[in-house]
Amino acid sequence: MNFVEFFKQLGKEDIPIAGGKGANLGELTNAGIPVPPGFVITSETYRKFITDTGIVDEINNMLANLDINDTPQLQKVSNDIKNLITNTDIPEGIQRVIIEAYNKLNLDVGLEDDVVVAIRSSATAEDLPDASFAGQQETYLNISGIDDVLLNVRKCWASLFEARAIFYRAENDFDHSQVLIAVVVQQMVNSEKAGVMFTVDPSTGAEEMLIEGAWGLGEGVVSGTVTPDTCRYDKVNDEVKSYKINTKKTMFTKNPDTGATEQVDVPEDLRDKQVLNDTDLEQLTTLGRRIQKHYNAPMDTEWGIENGKVYMLQARPITTLDDISEDNQESLDESERVILLKGLGASPGLISGTVKIVSNLDELDKILDGDILVTTMTTPDMVPAMKRANGIVTDEGGVTCHAAIISRELGIPCVSGTGEATKTLKENTKVTIDGKKGLVFEGVIESQESSESSEQQVVSAAAPLVTVTDVKVNVSMAEAAQKAYATGADGVGLLRTEHMMLASGVHPYKFIEEGREDELIKTLVDGVLKVVDVFYPKTVWYRTLDAPTDEFKTLDGGQDEPEEANPMLGWRGIRRELDQKELLKAEFKAIKKLHEQGYTNIGIMLPLLNSPSELHEAKEIAKSVGLIPHQDIEFGMMVETPASAIIIEDFIDEGLDFISFGTNDLTQYTLALDRNNELVAPAYNEGHPAVLKLIMDVIKKCREAGVTTSICGQAGSKPEIVEKLVKAGIDSVSANTDAVPTIRKLVAKIEKQIMLDAARKTLYED
Ligand code: PEP
Ligand code: MG
Repeated sequence: MNFVEFFKQLGKEDIPIAGGKGANLGELTNAGIPVPPGFVITSETYRKFITDTGIVDEINNMLANLDINDTPQLQKVSNDIKNLITNTDIPEGIQRVIIEAYNKLNLDVGLEDDVVVAIRSSATAEDLPDASFAGQQETYLNISGIDDVLLNVRKCWASLFEARAIFYRAENDFDHSQVLIAVVVQQMVNSEKAGVMFTVDPSTGAEEMLIEGAWGLGEGVVSGTVTPDTCRYDKVNDEVKSYKINTKKTMFTKNPDTGATEQVDVPEDLRDKQVLNDTDLEQLTTLGRRIQKHYNAPMDTEWGIENGKVYMLQARPITTLDDISEDNQESLDESERVILLKGLGASPGLISGTVKIVSNLDELDKILDGDILVTTMTTPDMVPAMKRANGIVTDEGGVTCHAAIISRELGIPCVSGTGEATKTLKENTKVTIDGKKGLVFEGVIESQESSESSEQQVVSAAAPLVTVTDVKVNVSMAEAAQKAYATGADGVGLLRTEHMMLASGVHPYKFIEEGREDELIKTLVDGVLKVVDVFYPKTVWYRTLDAPTDEFKTLDGGQDEPEEANPMLGWRGIRRELDQKELLKAEFKAIKKLHEQGYTNIGIMLPLLNSPSELHEAKEIAKSVGLIPHQDIEFGMMVETPASAIIIEDFIDEGLDFISFGTNDLTQYTLALDRNNELVAPAYNEGHPAVLKLIMDVIKKCREAGVTTSICGQAGSKPEIVEKLVKAGIDSVSANTDAVPTIRKLVAKIEKQIMLDAARKTLYED
């Protein structure tokens, strides 16, 4: 057994001897990722220290009768054990090995003076996929000279017995004597900027890197003292999706005179300045991809940048992805919600409770079961109180701050970085927090359980197979949204609203005629909410009402529906809604309401258009309710009549964000075959050359005009047609829930083939 191992000798399987941090630094080093050099004092060294010195029995005795819920007693035992460890000399044999390793590091680095190191504890139960003990053990920065190294190694060992660590272990049924601690000794990176990076979105599993960065050393971001800049990077399109500059008031730096780490004010000119430039982002995202690829798993990393070069300081698997399940079944019942505060969605879930503002640790006792803990920023000492809380709201911090990490671990909703929760929220009032969207609402809002079976509600958010062409899903019933989401679809390419609108059993126009528009809007809001909430922030294209008249007849108030010889060619889609504009208006009002509640992931899609004037008129109605097409909301149309395909340029001129092929109708209208008539069913063929010609032509013209193209008819679930469309450059394919996995695989394969063909072509042409 070695007392010390250099990073080169370690890999990710060495967690038992090097702890999570040490093992992963070894793994990264060996994978060629830039990591500052260092070594690990193994966990066995700690075991030998406590046994050879005989202090192990004293420690066990002190823990034996401890009641972890008796806070003063917990504090006392913790202090006694820590003092015992820090004041006990390290036996000679162990000391010698540590001194030799430090001297070797000095030589490797090639410095004349003592190398300045960071000393971090690396607990063997830390950083494991299912037991994130973030923030529990200590880090000592800017340490140099062997005496200080030895002292801080003992302090790291002692940190295993911080009161919160004892509490956490007991709560999670970890045997104290089985949890050993390793210590990482690593050359210090004097970062000018630093932060964290998740290689996928930690709250949804989406293929989007989340990078947080602030000035100075990384401690500010990790501890949540600073509200960092937040960058979301779209891995599929290889581009920055959003970059939010936050005000960074404070930073951690090395004092040039004393060498100590200190917290200082950020100079005025840097506070609101963007931390990460293009070069930084390029280096970070490249490393992020390499690390995820190397581990073959989504990762949570820490990084620092010194003299423009990125160093990785830590990596571990993201601990929360398997838990992304029940929170998605929660959706808000009422549209009458008052938003008190906006922050970051740090830990998903919707929960209500009584506000308890904690200004200092003495006040923790006032947090009772079910309260909402509101504080500037949580600290590890607050964990026992956090466990009692229903949810957490903080003033400061990003989505990787302490409050965020621990809340995700505890499975409670958290909104971080609100800026002013401790000032705005009133003690003892009821609030509801939405930890997915980062909102705090006034009062209690009930969550709604989906009626799907629990089996269907379990959502696997593991990173889906990545395709450049989005693979979306069609949804018709709100209750099926969970299942649709579980496919890993990139959004909803068609939300059929008929079921939602007709589910009330009342003819929609009856609501209008009886002056009950509000009820109609509420029915729609309630239904659509269940879908847009589950899919948030992925886009859901809401298709406005398109029910043929025969489907209305049985509804209360449907007796006056006209008798049509062929409803498929009749009064449906946009035609009807421009005749009964109140219906379209009510739909837009419902969307507007959802928009105001933060559900901006909705697009509007109009069915059965034949003329650009219909598109224009619908836009005017949207504007009249305060939704500005293309600006507030994506506005598009289905291409499902030959007329619309043939004159697509005219629609483009009128203004379109996207089109989606409704091949069910496009086929029936092109081939003059009633899609509901089984007599002609054998001749019904979406792959007919005439249908395909129309489609290809529209894709080409839309591509030239920068209009997004998609397909949501049944043909989007048919491999032989999807293959043709992907090759033609369609932007997304929306399939039925059951077909999504197959279509995803197929699309990935076709895309690879396209790239290979292109590469070969270049090769042979050269
Ligand atoms: C279509 O026509 O292809 C379509 C998706 O719409 P619907 O089936 O609802 O008419
Ligand atoms: Mg249709």
